[in-house]
Amino acid sequence: MAERLPQIAIGEDERLDLENLVTGAFHPVKGFMTREETLSVVHEMRLPTGEVWSLPILLQLPEKPRVGPGDRVALVHQGEAVGLMEVAEAYTLDLRALAQAVFGTESEAHPGVARLYAKGPYAIGGKVTVLKPRPRSPLEKTPEEARAFFRAQGWKTVVAFQTRNAPHRAHEYLIRLGLELADGVLVHPILGAKKADDFPTEVIVKAYQALVEGFLPRERVALFGLATPMRYAGPKEAVFHALVRKNFGATHFLVGRDHAGVGDFYDPYAAHRIFDGLPPLGIEIIRVGAVFFCPLCGGMASERTCPGGHRAKRLSVSMTQVRRLLREGREPPPELVRPELLPILREGLG
Ligand SMILES: [Zn+2]
Repeated sequence: MAERLPQIAIGEDERLDLENLVTGAFHPVKGFMTREETLSVVHEMRLPTGEVWSLPILLQLPEKPRVGPGDRVALVHQGEAVGLMEVAEAYTLDLRALAQAVFGTESEAHPGVARLYAKGPYAIGGKVTVLKPRPRSPLEKTPEEARAFFRAQGWKTVVAFQTRNAPHRAHEYLIRLGLELADGVLVHPILGAKKADDFPTEVIVKAYQALVEGFLPRERVALFGLATPMRYAGPKEAVFHALVRKNFGATHFLVGRDHAGVGDFYDPYAAHRIFDGLPPLGIEIIRVGAVFFCPLCGGMASERTCPGGHRAKRLSVSMTQVRRLLREGREPPPELVRPELLPILREGLG
């Protein structure tokens, strides 16, 4: 049947989001967005129905599609019909205006903006269904499965930790903070596309597995994966990440310094402040400042726990730094990353 419908080719990102729309990961969004939904989300941070939503979920096309409202189309991924869309609208996007509204910049040096431009200026919106589910890794749970897992564990409170990179000591500090606060922690790495200088997904997952199995109370940590691309939209992506984790059953969400940021495109605390202007989202936001190693405090600390007088001695922790040291054939110190994880990271340098 799908063979007789107009065919719309979709990429990997869109295939992941097709499933996220159907599983409820993006609730209350149920389809790729129409123009009205897109404009409302990027300018008001609300869906036209009033719910808070911060990022457009788009099915972009490089060429003007020959379909319109009321058409049913097959969504084709690598030659295979994987989904259906009831087209509500075919429209043209103002990509520069969209980039400015979502990412705060029109610069192609921003990986999210470059990706947006590369996908083309046309879009179709409408509700979708899945014809052929993607093979899932054991780490991927649907929102329903994640909620059932938390219920079975008896967890009433769950802190979600978003990550797009392998764990360094500051990440570990945040996970431990979550463990202090809640019954369980959902470590939820992004399994979709990331920028070239983040570690590959398999390496990130392996490193988290080693961290959880060797150094954390594993019965209180759920290591699942979220199959969606990183957008690097900073504050707006922080809101998106929080809403998605609420859908997966988390009660709390950790937002660190420069959440979902890239380079110096965002003020490091814009991702904290954005929540101040929003109504309660149904998930508690835990704002955490910069986390670093402080030799005077004698351990990992944050701007909220280490006195300003120690500033000059603080050792900042970043994966960029870890990668640089590994590339130079040097050993990153244990204050940056657990020595036990180094073999996994070295393998993942490519
Ligand atoms: Zn200190």
